Amino acid sequence: MIHRRQELPPTAGLPLRWRDLQPGAPTLADDIAALLGTPPLQLECSGTASLLVALTTLREQQPLRRRVVVPAYTCPLVAIAVHQAGLELQLCDLRAGHFDMDPVALRVACDERTLAIIPTHLAGRVADVDDALDVARRVGAYVIEDAAQALGARRDGVSVGMAGDIGFFSLAAGKGLSIYEGGLLLARDPVLRAHLAETSARIVPRRIGWEWRRSIELLGYAALYRPRGLGLAYGGPLRRALHRGDPVAAVGDDFALSIPLHRVGRWRQGVGAHAAPRLPTFLKQTRDQAQRRLSRLRRIDGLELFDDRAGTQGTWPFLLLLLPDQARRDRALDQLWQSGFGVSRLFIHALPDYAYLADRVPQQDVPHARDFAARSLSISNSPWLTDEDFEVICRSLEIALN
Ligand SMILES: *Cc1c(COP(=O)(O)O)cnc(C)c1O
Repeated sequence: MIHRRQELPPTAGLPLRWRDLQPGAPTLADDIAALLGTPPLQLECSGTASLLVALTTLREQQPLRRRVVVPAYTCPLVAIAVHQAGLELQLCDLRAGHFDMDPVALRVACDERTLAIIPTHLAGRVADVDDALDVARRVGAYVIEDAAQALGARRDGVSVGMAGDIGFFSLAAGKGLSIYEGGLLLARDPVLRAHLAETSARIVPRRIGWEWRRSIELLGYAALYRPRGLGLAYGGPLRRALHRGDPVAAVGDDFALSIPLHRVGRWRQGVGAHAAPRLPTFLKQTRDQAQRRLSRLRRIDGLELFDDRAGTQGTWPFLLLLLPDQARRDRALDQLWQSGFGVSRLFIHALPDYAYLADRVPQQDVPHARDFAARSLSISNSPWLTDEDFEVICRSLEIALN
């Protein structure tokens, strides 16, 4: 097994600087809205909390509709939020070999009971929102764009989250710009935006204990989110979880079943506002790096890669790859997952296969989502991952594919 001397993170988070930690104006949401060119954004304490506020709002608009349709391969937190909003999860299988929902399966999944459809911009790639909008219009449902992994992604020059009724971004650790935990809600329509703000004012309390905890976690993140600290903060726990045979814990898919709701304090907003002006340059730097590395990966036979579709410009937290089969994917991971080179898996399972979510997720047959979970791996697009590091990864992939 290969080993890198200093640990790389699995995704490209925007590194914080010590100066960011000084008190500043709590203008984070407005600053990001200005950068993205969107209407005002609403700050919540996590991406999941943003989704919970959105679902609670829509449920009040359409009390007779209870179903929320999501891709069967997505973040477990989405299933937890749907349950906490008192709604029913309905899975939609993926297109074969892709992260988008299958158009035929989506039409079967949706009817007059559907409240919302959640297309998901996975790995920063811009998802097929048009198809979800087409189905949603026919059955009278809303579309919520899950852009948790895609802050800064655009289609035809417009931010993701603007095509659907609602969109949300995550500011969690490792997801681009981070205040350790945070989320931003976006809605094109001012009336819906006002409803989202009312819901938040009603259901989200100020909780000093939670804000203290997140502030200390943000300090820890600022200190350890660098190659010298990540062995302690990320690599060690990863290797221990894999050693006890718990891949779900290894990638942090083992979420708490109750989502905390609280206001984000001034200090953390100020930290994010200090870092925000660096985001556009960071996105460009990681985009250029990703394009160079995709060209290298295209020279390896047997890999399926995800690039931007025409008219879209996504973000690049990591490169998402499909290998020809699970055996070869696992062979590559045997070499790379614990190596410190930033190679990992996205979500371990399709949603029905997380034992701890059994009472929140319907047992549906979703073969394409299971296949995606079995054949995919991710390569960090952190700027700390050098061209030499990347070449080590490529050679390891070539051996695994042989
Ligand atoms: C991380 C993530 C979420 C949840 O965002 P948090 O800020 O971590 O609560 C939702 N959907 C997807 C696809 C994610 O990756």
